[in-house]
Amino acid sequence: MLNPTPRVRFAPSPTGLLHVGNARTALYNWLFARHTGGEFLLRIEDTDVERSEARYEAQLIEDLRWLGLDWTEGPQIGGPYAPYRQSERLEIYQQHTEQLLGEDKAYRCFCTAEELEQERQLALREQRAQVYSGKCRALAANQAQTRAAAGETFAVRLAVPDAPLRFHDIVRGDVEFAGETVSDFILVRSSGMPVYNYVVTIDDALMRITHVIRGDDHISNTPRQVAIYQAFGWSLPEFAHLSTILGSDRERLSKRHGATSIASFREMGILPQALANYLALLGWGAEGGTRETFTREELIAEFKLERVTPSPAVFDWDKLHWLNRHAIKQAPPAELRQLAWPYFTARQWLPPLSPEDAAVVQWFARVLDLFLPAVDQLQQLPEKAAALWNLAPVTQEDAALLASEAGERVVRAFTAKIRAEAGAMTPQRFKELMNEVKAETGAKGKDLFHPVRIILTGAHSGPEFDKLIPLLEEGSQLDLPTHVLSVRERVEAFSATVL
Ligand code: GLU
Repeated sequence: MLNPTPRVRFAPSPTGLLHVGNARTALYNWLFARHTGGEFLLRIEDTDVERSEARYEAQLIEDLRWLGLDWTEGPQIGGPYAPYRQSERLEIYQQHTEQLLGEDKAYRCFCTAEELEQERQLALREQRAQVYSGKCRALAANQAQTRAAAGETFAVRLAVPDAPLRFHDIVRGDVEFAGETVSDFILVRSSGMPVYNYVVTIDDALMRITHVIRGDDHISNTPRQVAIYQAFGWSLPEFAHLSTILGSDRERLSKRHGATSIASFREMGILPQALANYLALLGWGAEGGTRETFTREELIAEFKLERVTPSPAVFDWDKLHWLNRHAIKQAPPAELRQLAWPYFTARQWLPPLSPEDAAVVQWFARVLDLFLPAVDQLQQLPEKAAALWNLAPVTQEDAALLASEAGERVVRAFTAKIRAEAGAMTPQRFKELMNEVKAETGAKGKDLFHPVRIILTGAHSGPEFDKLIPLLEEGSQLDLPTHVLSVRERVEAFSATVL
């Protein structure tokens, strides 16, 4: 028999932001589907009504799209197995519960919370596993029905056969759990709400999921899900449980380790292709190589679940930054402009991006050429380029340098020369003037350049004058929310405040 078309799903709970671990799960599912010519669907697991919020669902979808993932079935777009939100599928679950009760594969449990707690305490004292005794399994079906009809509340439990529960995991191999470790667990709470293990299994089966790829925090849930597949007589999908992601201290990655949400990476100016590349490497490697940079197409071509490692992956900022710098080098200028621009409008340094404003767009392209090689994240750009808009306050050390006899000589000669110039400064002319200052003062090297740089930018280090000067001169001609001072204006501003 031919294998069916692979079908995989990403099934997030909309109870918070999308984080590194879940984003990696989504990416691996997507890559697997793309690699195998299969289908990738999105299902929203919102049966926890207290914690689920529509805004998280919206944000999640936005984050997945930003990361470059797409799906052919899901909430909003629908599909052959709709609805794709669990809160809209309660009737389906209920029908399945009727079926299981009718076939005696599940039973009503009337035990109260206190009774269950007493049972637990007793098991604890007797050093037995603290699992449900199965007391209500013995109730005759008609008796249970009568109690239910009389209004007594009940949970529904699965009658789990006393046999090992086995499944195959592509990452870990064959896995087996003893039946009694699972016991007769709850499918539907006394509130009427079905539990995660139950609904996830029904949905995966009805949606014809062939491969369940998810975080290994779910591995202990899997035997319960296997028991449910068996109760319905459904065949098992393949499983692939992805390893835990650790922080640099080798503790499970969490908020304590700083930003881990996809939204925060986007805000920092990590490029989506860099993050996708990085997440792909968190627990997977291409065959026979140490290669680390991959385009999306290369990832699709190379990705195999068999190459996913069971050992934990450690989140490494240096590597993410390295991949981000690589992605910045590869990205088309228009994309970088689009991504970088908002950091400058936020500071009121640039107007909102308008492609018709060709002069500003071209000038900013050169600002980017100059400063992009110096950043790990796009959000660092304004700080790197700050000298264009702001003169940094002169430090005490630099002030002392300017006040020294040699420093002062350079300052006087330089400011006088700039003031005597008419028209815009060019790098060529600037060089000539610097040579004149050098000849007149006898200063050279950093004794010559540091004072001049402090006058022009407020700091004694920064980009080459050849590149900086045209940006200052041309920037000063543009109509920007914060004016860029020309060389001449800088000399005047310096004289007014420092001299
Ligand atoms: N809603 C579950 C989660 O977000 C999905 C687990 C699964 O993929 O089965 O962890």
